[in-house]
Amino acid sequence: MKIYVTRKIPDELLIPLQDKGFEVTMWNEEEIVVPREELLKNVSEADGLLCMLTDTIDKEILEAGKNLKVIGNIAVGFNNIDVEEARKRGIIVTNTPDVLTEATADTTFLLLLSAARNYTESTQILRQGNWGPWSLLQMTGQDLNKSTLGIIGLGRIGEAVVRRAQGFGMNILYYNRSRKEHIEKELNINYDSFENVLKKSDFVCLLVPYSPQLHHMIGSRELKMMKETAVLINTARGGLVDEEALYNALKNKEIYAAGLDVFEREPVSKDHPLLNLSNFEALPHIGSATVNTRMTMGKLAVKNVLNVLVGEKPATPVWKD
Ligand code: NAP
Repeated sequence: MKIYVTRKIPDELLIPLQDKGFEVTMWNEEEIVVPREELLKNVSEADGLLCMLTDTIDKEILEAGKNLKVIGNIAVGFNNIDVEEARKRGIIVTNTPDVLTEATADTTFLLLLSAARNYTESTQILRQGNWGPWSLLQMTGQDLNKSTLGIIGLGRIGEAVVRRAQGFGMNILYYNRSRKEHIEKELNINYDSFENVLKKSDFVCLLVPYSPQLHHMIGSRELKMMKETAVLINTARGGLVDEEALYNALKNKEIYAAGLDVFEREPVSKDHPLLNLSNFEALPHIGSATVNTRMTMGKLAVKNVLNVLVGEKPATPVWKD
């Protein structure tokens, strides 16, 4: 059996595959995403594929993968893979849910606090030697305590963000495709429509998986519904937010601030217009980036691929049947 790994990952993660006698080939360039031709060539010989969200696994790739039995995506989101096409071809797709929930909820809170308290602008004032005399309203931001947090997409990470927010004394509203009454009772939170969550919240966190139907679910119309004092946080996927509309809303102070860990086109260049705004916080897609979490994601993805190739059930398939 042959396995292709599209990105350099620590060798120790591959040991369980090598112990089974599988032949593992890995793209070793750290700075370059595997070129399309290289991916097509290697996938055509592979029984298993370990890949990342930076790899577009579309119909052409799946067609090339004549022997492909399993795709282990090292991420919980799998919008980079044409899962319907894979399913038609009997290729099992797996992801890495749960193990990154807490780290990603932490990153969501990192952005939320940074945007609420103007972290980047304040630290630049200090670092550039512009920390002047104390004044009452200089470098002031927004309170979390007693504010309303709106979660769009109350899944694993959404719930973990709720638990953190309650520690900060925030009230919680949520919108989800399916209403979750048992969780409402358990966490003492309230359900509302998408529009009402936008209108009533002081902080809005996007935590839905990306799909073409949700492309730009936050555009100028939605930003106009939000309070002038509101903060928007996106740690889900870049395509959910219309960045041009967000730029205009932040520049015109239609909302207070925003924080993004994810962008429509990654990696983002230093010339991205949003990066010039003082009421904008940015991270380079580091939602799950703790050593422990990333290693655990890697181990889970390897286990999924291994399980399928030895005829067992994968631990975390994207679809359960
Ligand atoms: P999850 O447990 O599947 O939660 C997603 C939630 O969104 C579910 O409750 C789902 O509702 C809801 N949802 C799906 N489609 C919706 C729609 N059209 N409208 C409203 N709600 C909808 O996923 P998770 O583990 O929390 O992860 C969420 C997303 O975060 C991932 O898909 C990924 O893109 C992103 N993420 C980013 C990073 C990062 O590095 N920044 C790290 C991890 C994850 P149902 O219950 O009805 O399905």
